[in-house]
Amino acid sequence: MTATPKILLAVRFGQPIKTRPSSWLARLGPTVVFALLFGFAEARAQAPSVAVSGVDAALIEDIVTGSRVLADFGVLDGFGHVSARHPTNPNHFLLSRSLAPALVTAADIMEFDLDGNAVGNNGRSVFLERFIHSEIYRARPDVMSVVHTHSPGVIPFTVSQAPLRPMYHNAAFLAAGAPVWDIRKDFGETDMLVRDPSLGKSLAQTLGDKAVVLMRGHGDVTVGPSVKVAVFRAYYTDVNARLQSQAIALGGDVNYLTPGEGAKADTVNLAVLDRIWNLWRMRIAPSLGK
Ligand SMILES: [Zn+2]
Repeated sequence: MTATPKILLAVRFGQPIKTRPSSWLARLGPTVVFALLFGFAEARAQAPSVAVSGVDAALIEDIVTGSRVLADFGVLDGFGHVSARHPTNPNHFLLSRSLAPALVTAADIMEFDLDGNAVGNNGRSVFLERFIHSEIYRARPDVMSVVHTHSPGVIPFTVSQAPLRPMYHNAAFLAAGAPVWDIRKDFGETDMLVRDPSLGKSLAQTLGDKAVVLMRGHGDVTVGPSVKVAVFRAYYTDVNARLQSQAIALGGDVNYLTPGEGAKADTVNLAVLDRIWNLWRMRIAPSLGK
């Protein structure tokens, strides 16, 4: 009988059971066999719905909506991620298990500490680049959401000398600046991924107090006081970059928004954000069966 808890524990943590079923089942009575089988079913049923304690379902839904809508717009592809700081524990954050953003559901959201360790992992795989999120949350107490993309529109601005600047009012937040982080500067030749805390800390330092940081030969990170704002900024960073490339290609000087215009327009954008957010929720609703 003492074997039962060990076997169930092994199933819950996804570890292989080395004992051959035909031999150990044969040695147990029918009651124990039933309990074991019921235990298997229970463990399997619980696996995809690990709850994140103390978190409003609306916040989880925002992460799911943001992930799916950015994938829908092509800002995210099979990679990239949307996270939120834990609302009651500022030293933790919420992020999907390793999964393409277009496939993220509420059951995939996990909790992490600021060292990038998963809380209640349950055997699920996690993103290599979770340290982007952990180190920005550590460095920026004001940030409640982080989005990382490999936005195609932005890539040219990460490798050229042309700074990303605000083309129009929707991307007004860019008027405060969009610094470029070059991983090679301090870390030499890498695989370009933010795969440890020291890389994440360096990225967060380059971000500084800005809303956006570009990553040379990689993509960008946007931050905000909510998931909605960080996702909004990720989307319009990509749109602005595409428009700016077009304006530069036309030739001549480009007449960008000034910092003053940017600050004023950004205030308006933040006030009317729900209008576009509700449109985006409706856009991805069919993919969630709603
Ligand atoms: Zn990346």
